[in-house]
Amino acid sequence: MKLDKVDVKILEILQRDGRASFRDIAKKVGVTTPTVSSKVALYEQMGILKGFGAYLDTDALGEISIILSIKCKPSDVSKIAEKLKALEDVREVYLMGGSWVHAKVTLVDTTHLNEFIADLAKVEEILDYDYKAIVDTVKEEPRPVLSEGIHAVLTCFYCRKPMHDKPVKIKLDGKDHFLCCNTCVKEYRKKYEKLKDGM
Ligand SMILES: [Zn+2]
Repeated sequence: MKLDKVDVKILEILQRDGRASFRDIAKKVGVTTPTVSSKVALYEQMGILKGFGAYLDTDALGEISIILSIKCKPSDVSKIAEKLKALEDVREVYLMGGSWVHAKVTLVDTTHLNEFIADLAKVEEILDYDYKAIVDTVKEEPRPVLSEGIHAVLTCFYCRKPMHDKPVKIKLDGKDHFLCCNTCVKEYRKKYEKLKDGM
């Protein structure tokens, strides 16, 4: 799906204010409220819109954030990433290619920071690590940069695989649904009907 001007405007408004009403968005963008609501449903289905949250300020909460770099064997990268992912204090995990994993970690105080680092030293797959505490956050924006013409990679609504070819579009209850192949269309219809029967 290629994002057009309307998509970009809607997503920008939502990125700034997740509480914006569909009516207000519609007014600002110059489309109807049902258009906004069906587009938002589509963004959610496509996985472009992962959810709505509130921004809290770590500084105001007196928390400490660190940027952590971990070096391990390339074969251990996914194991380390899974371990980090499971920890509540670890907020972001990035695989850097090769043997590096980076993470942003937020700890409630220095005692927790010291404990976290001590635990890290016990993980045998970690060959080396380094961390720096964030002293000040100069800029912090949501990662997606919105621009007209961006090609959002659609995932098949049934098998969830990314679709690089033209998807098969079917209309169910007035909404567009995207599938990768006719087999998925068949299975998806079955699943959809079953779900509807259950409602
Ligand atoms: Zn599929």
